[in-house]
Amino acid sequence: SEPSPRRSIRDLPDELISQIAAGEVVERPASAVRELVDNALDAGATQITLRLLAGGVRLIAVEDDGAGIPDSELHLALRRHATSKIASLHELESVATMGFRGEALAAIASVSEMAVLSRPPGQASAFLLDARSGELRPAARSQGTTVEVKELFFSTPARRKFLKSDATELAHCVQAVRRHALARPDVGFAIWHEGQLVEQWRPTFGPAAAGDAEAWRTALGRRLADVLGEDFLQQSVPVHLRRGSVEVTGWAGLPDAARSRADQQYCYVNGRFVRDKVLAHAARSAYEDVLHGNRQPVYALYVRMDPQRVDVNVHPTKIEVRFRDSREVHQAVRHAIDNALAAPRAQQLLQQQA
Ligand code: ADP
Ligand code: MG
Repeated sequence: SEPSPRRSIRDLPDELISQIAAGEVVERPASAVRELVDNALDAGATQITLRLLAGGVRLIAVEDDGAGIPDSELHLALRRHATSKIASLHELESVATMGFRGEALAAIASVSEMAVLSRPPGQASAFLLDARSGELRPAARSQGTTVEVKELFFSTPARRKFLKSDATELAHCVQAVRRHALARPDVGFAIWHEGQLVEQWRPTFGPAAAGDAEAWRTALGRRLADVLGEDFLQQSVPVHLRRGSVEVTGWAGLPDAARSRADQQYCYVNGRFVRDKVLAHAARSAYEDVLHGNRQPVYALYVRMDPQRVDVNVHPTKIEVRFRDSREVHQAVRHAIDNALAAPRAQQLLQQQA
Protein backbone atom coordinates (compact mmCIF):
# COMPACT_ATOMS: atom_id res chain seq x y z
CA SER A 1 0.00 0.00 0.00
CA GLU A 2 0.98 3.62 -0.48
CA PRO A 3 2.83 5.17 2.42
CA SER A 4 0.46 7.64 4.03
CA PRO A 5 1.35 11.29 3.40
CA ARG A 6 3.45 12.79 6.12
CA ARG A 7 1.64 14.72 8.83
CA SER A 8 3.29 17.53 10.64
CA ILE A 9 4.61 17.10 14.15
CA ARG A 10 2.37 18.53 16.82
CA ASP A 11 1.96 18.54 20.58
CA LEU A 12 -0.59 16.01 21.75
CA PRO A 13 -3.54 17.38 23.65
CA ASP A 14 -3.15 17.10 27.43
CA GLU A 15 -6.01 14.66 27.84
CA LEU A 16 -4.50 12.30 25.27
CA ILE A 17 -1.09 12.49 26.95
CA SER A 18 -2.75 11.39 30.19
CA GLN A 19 -4.61 8.58 28.46
CA ILE A 20 -1.39 7.31 26.91
CA ALA A 21 0.36 7.49 30.27
CA ALA A 22 -2.60 5.75 31.90
CA GLY A 23 -1.88 2.72 29.72
CA GLU A 24 1.31 2.17 31.70
CA VAL A 25 -0.15 2.70 35.13
CA VAL A 26 -3.73 1.47 34.95
CA GLU A 27 -4.10 -1.90 33.38
CA ARG A 28 -7.18 -3.07 35.27
CA PRO A 29 -9.21 -2.12 38.36
CA ALA A 30 -6.58 -3.66 40.64
CA SER A 31 -3.97 -1.18 39.34
CA ALA A 32 -6.20 1.73 40.37
CA VAL A 33 -6.78 0.05 43.74
CA ARG A 34 -3.05 -0.25 44.29
CA GLU A 35 -2.43 3.43 43.51
CA LEU A 36 -5.31 4.67 45.65
CA VAL A 37 -4.27 2.57 48.63
CA ASP A 38 -0.68 3.82 48.17
CA ASN A 39 -2.03 7.36 48.42
CA ALA A 40 -4.07 6.60 51.53
CA LEU A 41 -1.00 5.09 53.22
CA ASP A 42 1.16 8.05 52.20
CA ALA A 43 -1.47 10.28 53.84
CA GLY A 44 -0.97 8.43 57.14
CA ALA A 45 -4.32 6.65 57.16
CA THR A 46 -5.01 4.20 59.99
CA GLN A 47 -8.15 2.75 58.40
CA ILE A 48 -8.72 2.20 54.68
CA THR A 49 -12.08 1.03 53.39
CA LEU A 50 -12.74 -0.02 49.80
CA ARG A 51 -16.15 -0.31 48.20
CA LEU A 52 -16.29 -2.01 44.83
CA LEU A 53 -18.98 -2.72 42.27
CA ALA A 54 -18.64 -5.19 39.42
CA GLY A 55 -15.10 -6.20 40.30
CA GLY A 56 -14.10 -2.54 40.46
CA VAL A 57 -15.11 -1.78 36.87
CA ARG A 58 -18.27 0.10 37.82
CA LEU A 59 -16.95 1.57 41.07
CA ILE A 60 -13.82 1.72 43.17
CA ALA A 61 -14.22 3.94 46.22
CA VAL A 62 -11.26 4.18 48.58
CA GLU A 63 -11.91 5.94 51.84
CA ASP A 64 -9.21 6.88 54.35
CA ASP A 65 -8.79 8.84 57.56
CA GLY A 66 -5.50 10.39 56.51
CA ALA A 67 -4.22 13.94 56.22
CA GLY A 68 -6.62 14.99 53.46
CA ILE A 69 -6.16 17.51 50.65
CA PRO A 70 -7.00 21.19 51.20
CA ASP A 71 -9.75 22.47 48.90
CA SER A 72 -7.26 24.89 47.34
CA GLU A 73 -5.12 21.93 46.16
CA LEU A 74 -7.79 19.53 44.96
CA HIS A 75 -7.41 20.57 41.32
CA LEU A 76 -3.64 20.15 41.57
CA ALA A 77 -3.98 16.63 42.96
CA LEU A 78 -5.47 15.58 39.62
CA ARG A 79 -2.82 17.30 37.53
CA ARG A 80 -0.14 15.24 35.84
CA HIS A 81 3.30 15.47 37.49
CA ALA A 82 1.89 17.35 40.46
CA THR A 83 2.85 15.85 43.82
CA SER A 84 3.29 16.87 47.44
CA LYS A 85 5.82 14.10 48.04
CA ILE A 86 9.07 15.23 46.45
CA ALA A 87 10.39 18.60 45.38
CA SER A 88 13.89 17.83 44.13
CA LEU A 89 16.15 15.19 42.64
CA HIS A 90 17.79 14.93 46.04
CA GLU A 91 14.47 13.98 47.61
CA LEU A 92 13.74 11.52 44.83
CA GLU A 93 16.94 9.69 45.70
CA SER A 94 15.84 8.95 49.22
CA VAL A 95 12.08 8.86 48.74
CA ALA A 96 10.21 7.18 51.59
CA THR A 97 6.64 7.49 50.30
CA MET A 98 4.89 4.97 48.06
CA GLY A 99 4.11 7.65 45.48
CA PHE A 100 6.28 10.43 44.07
CA ARG A 101 5.56 10.61 40.34
CA GLY A 102 2.36 12.61 40.61
CA GLU A 103 0.79 10.51 37.88
CA ALA A 104 -1.75 8.16 39.36
CA LEU A 105 -4.76 10.37 39.96
CA ALA A 106 -4.33 12.11 36.60
CA ALA A 107 -3.97 8.78 34.82
CA ILE A 108 -6.97 7.16 36.49
CA ALA A 109 -9.09 10.29 35.99
CA SER A 110 -8.34 10.23 32.27
CA VAL A 111 -9.86 6.76 31.87
CA SER A 112 -12.76 6.97 34.32
CA GLU A 113 -15.24 9.27 35.98
CA MET A 114 -13.44 10.35 39.11
CA ALA A 115 -14.51 12.36 42.11
CA VAL A 116 -12.33 13.29 45.08
CA LEU A 117 -13.89 14.19 48.40
CA SER A 118 -11.50 15.39 51.06
CA ARG A 119 -11.22 17.18 54.36
CA PRO A 120 -7.91 17.93 56.04
CA PRO A 121 -7.94 18.56 59.80
CA GLY A 122 -8.87 22.13 60.59
CA GLN A 123 -10.83 22.74 57.40
CA ALA A 124 -14.42 23.70 58.24
CA SER A 125 -15.99 21.44 55.63
CA ALA A 126 -15.07 18.78 53.14
CA PHE A 127 -14.93 19.59 49.42
CA LEU A 128 -15.84 17.45 46.48
CA LEU A 129 -14.10 17.81 43.14
CA ASP A 130 -15.69 16.28 40.07
CA ALA A 131 -12.77 15.51 37.76
CA ARG A 132 -14.69 15.67 34.50
CA SER A 133 -16.55 18.94 35.02
CA GLY A 134 -13.92 20.49 37.29
CA GLU A 135 -16.73 21.53 39.60
CA LEU A 136 -15.71 22.02 43.25
CA ARG A 137 -18.33 22.22 45.98
CA PRO A 138 -18.64 21.81 49.74
CA ALA A 139 -19.74 18.39 50.93
CA ALA A 140 -19.99 16.40 54.14
CA ARG A 141 -17.21 14.19 55.48
CA SER A 142 -15.06 13.68 58.53
CA GLN A 143 -11.28 14.02 58.26
CA GLY A 144 -9.71 12.14 55.39
CA THR A 145 -10.18 11.45 51.71
CA THR A 146 -12.48 9.40 49.52
CA VAL A 147 -11.56 8.85 45.90
CA GLU A 148 -14.33 7.47 43.72
CA VAL A 149 -13.52 5.92 40.38
CA LYS A 150 -16.52 5.03 38.24
CA GLU A 151 -16.83 3.29 34.90
CA LEU A 152 -13.16 2.52 34.43
CA PHE A 153 -12.13 2.48 30.76
CA PHE A 154 -15.57 3.71 29.63
CA SER A 155 -13.80 5.97 27.11
CA THR A 156 -11.25 3.35 26.06
CA PRO A 157 -13.31 0.34 24.95
CA ALA A 158 -10.21 -1.46 23.64
CA ARG A 159 -8.88 -1.63 27.19
CA ARG A 160 -12.25 -2.48 28.64
CA LYS A 161 -12.51 -5.51 26.36
CA PHE A 162 -9.43 -7.03 27.97
CA LEU A 163 -11.04 -7.11 31.39
CA LYS A 164 -11.96 -10.52 32.75
CA SER A 165 -15.06 -11.52 34.70
CA ASP A 166 -16.07 -9.44 37.72
CA ALA A 167 -14.98 -12.30 39.98
CA THR A 168 -11.51 -12.33 38.45
CA GLU A 169 -11.11 -8.55 38.59
CA LEU A 170 -12.30 -8.60 42.21
CA ALA A 171 -9.73 -11.27 43.04
CA HIS A 172 -6.99 -9.06 41.58
CA CYS A 173 -8.26 -6.08 43.59
CA VAL A 174 -8.24 -8.12 46.80
CA GLN A 175 -4.73 -9.32 45.99
CA ALA A 176 -3.58 -5.72 45.54
CA VAL A 177 -4.91 -4.81 48.99
CA ARG A 178 -3.47 -7.99 50.50
CA ARG A 179 0.01 -6.93 49.34
CA HIS A 180 -0.36 -3.65 51.18
CA ALA A 181 -1.96 -5.21 54.24
CA LEU A 182 0.91 -7.68 54.70
CA ALA A 183 3.33 -4.81 55.20
CA ARG A 184 1.13 -2.58 57.38
CA PRO A 185 -0.24 -4.31 60.49
CA ASP A 186 -0.74 -0.85 61.97
CA VAL A 187 -3.46 -0.07 59.43
CA GLY A 188 -6.96 -1.55 59.25
CA PHE A 189 -8.35 -2.62 55.88
CA ALA A 190 -11.87 -3.51 54.79
CA ILE A 191 -13.08 -4.52 51.34
CA TRP A 192 -16.72 -4.45 50.36
CA HIS A 193 -18.01 -5.80 47.06
CA GLU A 194 -21.61 -5.26 45.94
CA GLY A 195 -22.49 -4.38 49.54
CA GLN A 196 -20.91 -7.50 51.05
CA LEU A 197 -17.89 -7.47 53.32
CA VAL A 198 -15.27 -9.52 51.47
CA GLU A 199 -12.22 -9.06 53.70
CA GLN A 200 -11.46 -7.26 56.90
CA TRP A 201 -8.09 -7.03 58.58
CA ARG A 202 -7.92 -5.18 61.85
CA PRO A 203 -4.84 -3.27 62.98
CA THR A 204 -2.71 -5.20 65.46
CA PHE A 205 -0.11 -2.56 66.16
CA GLY A 206 -0.99 0.68 67.88
CA PRO A 207 0.84 4.01 68.03
CA ALA A 208 1.72 3.19 71.66
CA ALA A 209 4.15 0.52 70.45
CA ALA A 210 5.85 2.83 67.92
CA GLY A 211 9.56 2.18 67.69
CA ASP A 212 9.34 -1.25 69.32
CA ALA A 213 10.88 -3.56 66.71
CA GLU A 214 9.88 -6.74 68.52
CA ALA A 215 6.25 -5.64 68.85
CA TRP A 216 6.26 -4.74 65.14
CA ARG A 217 7.43 -8.24 64.17
CA THR A 218 4.77 -9.78 66.38
CA ALA A 219 2.14 -7.59 64.72
CA LEU A 220 3.44 -8.52 61.28
CA GLY A 221 3.12 -12.20 62.17
CA ARG A 222 -0.44 -11.74 63.35
CA ARG A 223 -1.32 -9.83 60.18
CA LEU A 224 0.28 -12.60 58.11
CA ALA A 225 -1.93 -15.17 59.82
CA ASP A 226 -5.02 -12.97 59.29
CA VAL A 227 -4.33 -12.40 55.62
CA LEU A 228 -2.74 -15.65 54.45
CA GLY A 229 -4.20 -18.02 57.02
CA GLU A 230 -3.03 -19.52 60.29
CA ASP A 231 -1.47 -22.39 58.29
CA PHE A 232 0.98 -20.07 56.62
CA LEU A 233 2.39 -19.01 59.97
CA GLN A 234 2.29 -22.52 61.46
CA GLN A 235 4.32 -23.86 58.56
CA SER A 236 6.90 -21.07 58.54
CA VAL A 237 9.95 -20.11 60.52
CA PRO A 238 10.90 -16.56 61.41
CA VAL A 239 13.63 -14.91 59.39
CA HIS A 240 15.80 -12.25 60.88
CA LEU A 241 19.23 -11.18 59.77
CA ARG A 242 21.20 -8.02 59.46
CA ARG A 243 24.14 -8.03 57.14
CA GLY A 244 26.01 -4.86 56.35
CA SER A 245 23.41 -2.22 55.61
CA VAL A 246 20.70 -4.74 54.73
CA GLU A 247 18.14 -6.10 57.18
CA VAL A 248 15.93 -9.04 56.27
CA THR A 249 13.00 -10.09 58.41
CA GLY A 250 9.88 -12.11 57.78
CA TRP A 251 8.80 -15.73 57.55
CA ALA A 252 10.04 -18.53 55.35
CA GLY A 253 7.78 -21.49 54.70
CA LEU A 254 9.02 -24.99 55.48
CA PRO A 255 9.63 -27.21 52.46
CA ASP A 256 6.35 -29.05 53.08
CA ALA A 257 4.43 -25.82 52.69
CA ALA A 258 5.76 -25.38 49.14
CA ARG A 259 3.21 -25.15 46.38
CA SER A 260 3.02 -25.92 42.71
CA ARG A 261 2.56 -22.22 41.95
CA ALA A 262 4.70 -19.29 43.06
CA ASP A 263 1.64 -17.46 44.33
CA GLN A 264 2.62 -17.00 47.96
CA GLN A 265 5.90 -15.20 47.65
CA TYR A 266 5.76 -11.72 49.07
CA CYS A 267 8.82 -9.48 48.98
CA TYR A 268 9.02 -5.95 50.29
CA VAL A 269 11.77 -3.42 50.02
CA ASN A 270 11.45 -0.59 52.52
CA GLY A 271 7.76 -1.37 52.88
CA ARG A 272 7.04 -1.46 49.17
CA PHE A 273 5.82 -4.69 47.53
CA VAL A 274 8.19 -5.59 44.71
CA ARG A 275 8.68 -8.30 42.15
CA ASP A 276 12.38 -8.66 41.88
CA LYS A 277 14.63 -11.23 40.25
CA VAL A 278 17.48 -10.77 42.71
CA LEU A 279 15.25 -11.42 45.72
CA ALA A 280 13.40 -14.32 44.06
CA HIS A 281 16.66 -15.93 43.01
CA ALA A 282 18.19 -15.53 46.45
CA ALA A 283 15.17 -17.13 48.09
CA ARG A 284 15.05 -19.90 45.52
CA SER A 285 18.71 -20.72 46.07
CA ALA A 286 18.21 -20.96 49.84
CA TYR A 287 15.68 -23.74 49.19
CA GLU A 288 17.84 -25.44 46.57
CA ASP A 289 18.71 -28.48 48.70
CA VAL A 290 15.31 -29.02 50.28
CA LEU A 291 12.91 -28.35 47.41
CA HIS A 292 12.86 -30.41 44.29
CA GLY A 293 11.20 -30.22 40.91
CA ASN A 294 8.88 -27.31 40.42
CA ARG A 295 7.87 -26.93 44.06
CA GLN A 296 7.66 -23.21 44.90
CA PRO A 297 8.53 -22.00 48.38
CA VAL A 298 6.20 -19.68 50.26
CA TYR A 299 7.57 -16.67 52.10
CA ALA A 300 7.03 -13.12 53.21
CA LEU A 301 10.27 -11.17 53.32
CA TYR A 302 10.79 -7.62 54.41
CA VAL A 303 14.05 -6.08 53.28
CA ARG A 304 15.11 -2.80 54.86
CA MET A 305 18.01 -0.80 53.57
CA ASP A 306 19.28 2.71 53.04
CA PRO A 307 16.85 4.18 50.46
CA GLN A 308 19.82 5.69 48.65
CA ARG A 309 21.00 2.17 47.83
CA VAL A 310 17.87 1.19 45.96
CA ASP A 311 16.33 2.92 42.96
CA VAL A 312 12.53 2.74 43.02
CA ASN A 313 12.09 4.93 39.96
CA VAL A 314 12.57 2.14 37.43
CA HIS A 315 9.03 1.34 36.40
CA PRO A 316 5.85 3.48 36.25
CA THR A 317 4.11 1.14 38.67
CA LYS A 318 7.17 0.99 40.94
CA ILE A 319 6.83 -2.77 41.24
CA GLU A 320 10.42 -3.18 40.09
CA VAL A 321 13.47 -1.80 41.81
CA ARG A 322 17.18 -1.69 41.13
CA PHE A 323 19.71 -2.31 43.87
CA ARG A 324 22.98 -0.45 43.83
CA ASP A 325 24.70 -3.56 45.17
CA SER A 326 22.57 -6.53 44.23
CA ARG A 327 25.17 -9.03 45.46
CA GLU A 328 24.94 -7.65 48.94
CA VAL A 329 21.14 -7.97 48.89
CA HIS A 330 21.25 -11.44 47.37
CA GLN A 331 23.62 -12.71 50.04
CA ALA A 332 21.63 -11.16 52.86
CA VAL A 333 18.38 -12.77 51.71
CA ARG A 334 19.95 -16.11 51.02
CA HIS A 335 21.69 -16.28 54.38
CA ALA A 336 18.64 -15.04 56.21
CA ILE A 337 16.57 -17.93 54.86
CA ASP A 338 19.42 -20.44 55.21
CA ASN A 339 19.72 -19.54 58.87
CA ALA A 340 15.98 -19.65 59.45
CA LEU A 341 15.67 -23.11 57.92
CA ALA A 342 18.66 -24.37 59.92
CA ALA A 343 17.35 -23.03 63.24
CA PRO A 344 16.28 -25.51 65.93
CA ARG A 345 12.57 -24.80 65.51
CA ALA A 346 12.80 -25.50 61.79
CA GLN A 347 14.72 -28.70 62.41
CA GLN A 348 12.15 -29.84 64.93
CA LEU A 349 9.28 -29.15 62.56
CA LEU A 350 11.12 -30.85 59.72
CA GLN A 351 11.60 -33.98 61.84
CA GLN A 352 7.91 -34.02 62.67
CA GLN A 353 7.14 -33.86 58.97
CA ALA A 354 9.57 -36.63 58.03
P1 ADP B 1 1.74 10.86 43.93
O1 ADP B 1 1.16 9.86 44.89
O2 ADP B 1 2.85 10.28 43.12
O3 ADP B 1 2.12 12.15 44.57
P2 ADP B 1 -0.93 10.94 42.84
O4 ADP B 1 -1.43 11.34 41.50
O5 ADP B 1 -1.23 9.58 43.30
O6 ADP B 1 0.63 11.22 42.84
O7 ADP B 1 -1.50 11.96 43.91
C1 ADP B 1 -1.27 13.37 43.73
C2 ADP B 1 -1.27 14.12 45.06
O8 ADP B 1 -2.60 14.12 45.60
C3 ADP B 1 -0.42 13.48 46.13
O9 ADP B 1 0.92 13.91 46.06
C4 ADP B 1 -1.11 13.93 47.42
O10 ADP B 1 -0.67 15.20 47.81
C5 ADP B 1 -2.56 14.04 47.01
N1 ADP B 1 -3.36 12.86 47.42
C6 ADP B 1 -3.77 11.84 46.64
N2 ADP B 1 -4.50 10.93 47.32
C7 ADP B 1 -4.54 11.38 48.59
C8 ADP B 1 -5.13 10.88 49.82
N3 ADP B 1 -5.82 9.75 49.84
N4 ADP B 1 -4.96 11.62 50.95
C9 ADP B 1 -4.25 12.78 50.93
N5 ADP B 1 -3.68 13.29 49.81
C10 ADP B 1 -3.81 12.61 48.66
MG1 MG C 1 0.07 8.19 44.33
